[in-house]
Amino acid sequence: MTAKIISGREVAEHILEKELSVKVKELKEKNIVPNLVVILVGEMKASASYVAQKEKFAAKAGIKSEVRRFTAEISEEEILSEIDKINNDSLIHGVIVQLPLPDHISVAKVLNRIHPSKDVDGFTPNNVGKLFLGEDTLVSCTPKGIMQMLRISGTDLSGKNVTVIGRSNIVGKPVSILCQSQNATVTMCHSRTKDLNHKLSDADVIIVAVGVPKFISGDQIPEGAVVIDVGIHRVKSNKTKSGYKLVGDVNFDDVESKVSYITPVPGGVGPMTIASLLRNTLFSAKKIIYSHT
Ligand code: NAD
Repeated sequence: MTAKIISGREVAEHILEKELSVKVKELKEKNIVPNLVVILVGEMKASASYVAQKEKFAAKAGIKSEVRRFTAEISEEEILSEIDKINNDSLIHGVIVQLPLPDHISVAKVLNRIHPSKDVDGFTPNNVGKLFLGEDTLVSCTPKGIMQMLRISGTDLSGKNVTVIGRSNIVGKPVSILCQSQNATVTMCHSRTKDLNHKLSDADVIIVAVGVPKFISGDQIPEGAVVIDVGIHRVKSNKTKSGYKLVGDVNFDDVESKVSYITPVPGGVGPMTIASLLRNTLFSAKKIIYSHT
């Protein structure tokens, strides 16, 4: 079997050029400039690089973005008051806090302070609760991007078996809810799951968000499954100039010949996560028009 690659990079480009840029232009004609603020604390290279990607994509879509940078010594109170300022600024439609944060700052406290209408990462209890209840809301970006990729592959989830590996609040849990809302039967696996291979044996769709490089190999995957690889890791390689390469949670080379569809790393879930963030920013900005008409 030759797997078809679901290219998140291509889909995201298409969303930026054909959907977001057009809708952003329409909003600008109504004097609304969608505006995203990113809070970046500390000097972590990976965080800086994720934020740079978000800025680049936002610029392509015509969405205004601003990065507010703070040193790792900033206090929790100062971050909270920055979020209050953003919540009260009617010209800002979305805010995200790039994680991780330094240990002395409570992630839960900071995220909970964001007004739900500006929570374009979809992490606040209000938005998570609405997602759980099946209400239209700001859905967290990686799961939203994954659902889009499944749609593009033509995978109808109704009645299908979906196995999700990983139960994080930002990927595993929300994506399992979204799959259930499309009538899939979902099996959730995590670090205490016994006999993972058995849980994978009758899966039509496998979503892997574990955070371990090449965690899943070909012998664990049923023939013809659709595989979504969320993981992203920089590992040493003697085949590249830089001495490093990016790999996912799935051993792509080993798995590719068995699956019907698979997402690559890089160029899979990552770009779709950013496209979803910008879609959410537009969703928030558009709400302003409706709230004034
Ligand atoms: P996390 O560390 O919060 O959660 C990992 C989950 O994996 C946990 O629920 C844990 O129970 C489970 N797990 C760990 N070991 C396991 C094992 N042996 N068997 C079964 N389950 C096991 O991770 P996360 O935030 O969900 O991220 C997962 C991966 O996805 C990371 O590599 C992260 O960098 C990546 N990620 C990528 C994007 C993107 O946009 N591409 C977005 C979010 C996360």
